[in-house]
Amino acid sequence: MNSASIRAVFLGTGTSQGVPVIGCDCAVCRSQDPNDQRLRTALLVECGATRIAIDAGPDFRQQMLREGVQTLDAVLLTHEHNDHIIGLDDVRPFNFRQHKNMPILALPRVLDSVRSRFAYVFDANPYPGAPRLELLPLQPFQSFQIGELSILPFLVGHGGMEVLGFRFGSFTYITDMKTLPAESREAIKGTEVLVVNALHHKPHYSHLNLEEALEFIRQVNPREAYLTHISHHMGKYADISPQLPSGVFLASDGQKLKVNT
Ligand SMILES: [Zn+2]
Ligand SMILES: [Zn+2]
Ligand SMILES: [Zn+2]
Repeated sequence: MNSASIRAVFLGTGTSQGVPVIGCDCAVCRSQDPNDQRLRTALLVECGATRIAIDAGPDFRQQMLREGVQTLDAVLLTHEHNDHIIGLDDVRPFNFRQHKNMPILALPRVLDSVRSRFAYVFDANPYPGAPRLELLPLQPFQSFQIGELSILPFLVGHGGMEVLGFRFGSFTYITDMKTLPAESREAIKGTEVLVVNALHHKPHYSHLNLEEALEFIRQVNPREAYLTHISHHMGKYADISPQLPSGVFLASDGQKLKVNT
């Protein structure tokens, strides 16, 4: 693990449909509070001159523009659900600006899915201007380095699917979790700043709800915890935030964290 400080930016904190939801007139979807407007879940992580994105969903372009991202060293994918990968075509400006392929790091199964869903990228003769992706398989529980970032991938249960969470020193990022295997509980011990998903209030087969996320946070016992991958059924930011235990927060799009790792 490195000993520098990292900066994380919540690119998006919404569940797969985003908030507001198309056509919905609930109080959250009609809210004018920017904290109630959530693009699809993704995170930017920076250390020194190194900058990576975790997931590239349908809002990737908008997220890069909003944060003024000019260079990107890699994209890490948690899993192959559409809300986490379908924006990959929009790495093209980075290909052109940086004159290199974009490294995409994920489980081998997830890379297979990228290959089939973005088949035009992997044609023998791709059309000029197609994105250039370099697919790099990750092994769970094997640390790797991207520039100045030291990263530990670990397995997370997402319904019937195994997905990845990532640990950067004392900072741990988990999205799309329902269960955590014992080996991963070990792997995240000592986490001081935790990001974890909390969908809404009812039970869900592949995501923690708020009650389960709060119990999970009690077990991990970080100094601070941020909830992400939030549905409009969670309720308004201004109503829910005061009900959370101290040190636990609903994350907001654009929110920035600085963590001494
Ligand atoms: Zn998701
Ligand atoms: Zn709604
Ligand atoms: Zn998912």
